[in-house]
Amino acid sequence: MASIPDLRVDGGRLWRRLEEMARIGATAAGGVHRLALSDEDRRARDRFRAWAVSLGLAISIDGIGNMFARRAGTDDARPPVVLGSHLDSQPTGGRFDGPLGVLAALEVVQTLEEHGIATAVPIEVANWTNEEGARFAPAMMGSGVFSGRFELADALRTSDPDGVTVADAIDRIGYRGPTPVGGRLLAAHLELHIEQGPILEERGCEIGIVTGVQGTRWFDLTLIGEEAHAGPTPMPSRTDPVAALGQALVELYRRVESEFAPHGRLTFGVLAATPASRNTVPGQVRVSVDIRHPEDRALDDMEHCLREEAASACAERGAEWRLDAVWRSPAVRFSDRCIEAVRAAAEHCGYRSMPLMAGAGHDSVHTSDIAPTGMIFVPCEGGVSHNEAERITPAQAEAGANVLLHAALRLAGGRRRGPVSYPASNTSPGGSA
Ligand SMILES: [Zn+2]
Repeated sequence: MASIPDLRVDGGRLWRRLEEMARIGATAAGGVHRLALSDEDRRARDRFRAWAVSLGLAISIDGIGNMFARRAGTDDARPPVVLGSHLDSQPTGGRFDGPLGVLAALEVVQTLEEHGIATAVPIEVANWTNEEGARFAPAMMGSGVFSGRFELADALRTSDPDGVTVADAIDRIGYRGPTPVGGRLLAAHLELHIEQGPILEERGCEIGIVTGVQGTRWFDLTLIGEEAHAGPTPMPSRTDPVAALGQALVELYRRVESEFAPHGRLTFGVLAATPASRNTVPGQVRVSVDIRHPEDRALDDMEHCLREEAASACAERGAEWRLDAVWRSPAVRFSDRCIEAVRAAAEHCGYRSMPLMAGAGHDSVHTSDIAPTGMIFVPCEGGVSHNEAERITPAQAEAGANVLLHAALRLAGGRRRGPVSYPASNTSPGGSA
């Protein structure tokens, strides 16, 4: 029997479970369609539950459908180390965004079980409800209610484009549980996830030690001019908001790519001119703005740039402008203890690793409000995700699960009969570092 330092997960078994999960809601192009609280989500939950029960884990489901599969600790009254991610997908999503974290966590628990290793604190495998936000906005809903960022009642009354509420959908699939949502301490939350970006692959690293999640701000920028005929109206006589927008965008790209390089991100995903007529100078143009940066102070500066450039371009063109805030998510710095556990685990297993920031939102953003939190990234081919072509190799999945295993052991205090390989951690629950 392997000693704790030599302990490794069964990568073949993990891969078979990933493939079996990918058959639920499988699409012709090789991806998955498994929207939150749909029939496909129900089948994925049923399958996860059956696996967890077969491992002897105790299942609890809370009032927003978050699922927890618990393996007792030797000191079972202490708060658990939670290993979690999500089983829902985008409408044309990939097979690994989410399920990798849930099924690798299950594999970690099964490995501990098979090798007779007890942990001081309990370990729970979590499947968070509606991480993607594709059917019900906002994203990361289950972890958001759990951590107190969202109100349960607000989340339950959220409806999808067909008018079906979260409450109705959750009851229809039978996953509204009796456990109160949140309100309990976690020793730590760890999440294994695909990177969804190209950096690890480019650097030839097997493991990303995620140090935090960049902040995001969403706005609607509206520029207002005057409608006019495209033919008879001479250029100097126009108040064309698109001309002002063009000037502002050129300056904004230039500044973000110089003053905020390499971390700043600037995206205008939706552009709409009205009245949207080929031979009318638009009276108004509205663009969505998405800015991101790992530091909130830099985001303040980027927002300031946005206002400055909109104001100056509009002043020059005689147009007016308005900036409406839509959403903001502050930058997150993960717990030093979790970051160190992931780093040490990667080194212990002999994987090439590097620190990096997460570019996208994850349930771990919300758990970091209430518990020491960390994330592990593995590369995905070409950095592609939210795409049916999303791909990783069995070896990449296995490496991530091994790091999850050893990071969890460090945080949960694993031991077996004989020498103690990882001392019980001096985990102080709650309050991330
Ligand atoms: Zn995800």
